[in-house]
Amino acid sequence: MSATIIDGTGIANLIYQEIAEEVKLLLDAGRPAPHLAAMVIGNDGASKSYIESIRKRSQQTGITHSIYQLPETAKKEDVIETLRFINQDAEIDGFILQMPLPKHIPADEIIACMNPDKDIDCFTAINNGKLFLGEDTLFPATPWGTIELLKRSGISVSGQNCVVVGRSNIVGKPLALLLARNHPDANATVTLCHSRTRDLQRVCAEADILFVAIGKPEMITHEYVKEGAVVIDIGIHRLPDATLEKGYRLCGDVKYDEVAERASWITPVPGGVGPMTMACLLINTLKAYKGKEKNL
Ligand code: NDP
Repeated sequence: MSATIIDGTGIANLIYQEIAEEVKLLLDAGRPAPHLAAMVIGNDGASKSYIESIRKRSQQTGITHSIYQLPETAKKEDVIETLRFINQDAEIDGFILQMPLPKHIPADEIIACMNPDKDIDCFTAINNGKLFLGEDTLFPATPWGTIELLKRSGISVSGQNCVVVGRSNIVGKPLALLLARNHPDANATVTLCHSRTRDLQRVCAEADILFVAIGKPEMITHEYVKEGAVVIDIGIHRLPDATLEKGYRLCGDVKYDEVAERASWITPVPGGVGPMTMACLLINTLKAYKGKEKNL
């Protein structure tokens, strides 16, 4: 068997198109465009490509964007002051803070200052609490993107044995909660694994749908995968490769070639889950905008 590839790039582009159409309707009705603000601390390669991606996708969809760029040396107080300004600016609907923060800035203190209504990454305790309670909220972009990817590929998770490997607060744990919700797009039976899971290989090999967010390049080999399973690889890594002009290649947490021979569906890296994260941040910006309009 050779797996069908789940086309994250194509699905994300479709979402950008849908958002652009909604934003156009708003503008045609004389409403302002939704507004996304991003705070980036430092100026390394990752920060630059993050800003570039926000610019490109905002322009593509008609969403207004503002970038608040702080130096690597910014103090905690500088970050909180900028955040308070963003919290209070009625024109800003959605806010993202690029992670990880420099070591001298405590992420928990910064997140505690975020306005949950603008928290499109679902970092705040309020939005995570709503997710836990099964209420609607601004769902975290990567896990939500993963669910959207399956839904739009026609793969139902309802009643399926879903195994999630990785229990981080931004990926694995919220993904498990989203999959287990009492909701037509969810209703999965979920097992959440981590570094202390006994016999991980056996647990994974029982999954109808295997979600991998470990942060270990190509750790999941074909032995972890049941014949015909759906495999969703959330990991992304740059591996040095002197044979390539750019000097590296991208890979996920799954050993793609051999797992693709066993799975029925698989996400590639790049081009699988990755593109869905930015698309879902823009979905959330629109959702935050609509939430604000409702409360006016
Ligand atoms: P974290 O490092 O925060 O979490 C990794 C999780 O994997 C932990 O729960 C850890 O267990 C578990 N783990 C580590 N090693 C093993 C092992 N040998 N066996 C079983 N479980 C293990 O990572 P993130 O969740 O932030 O990210 C995971 C991957 O997803 C990374 O490659 C990251 O780059 C990628 N990512 C991709 C995004 C996208 O947009 N596509 C967005 C965010 C992340 P324990 O808790 O016990 O330590």
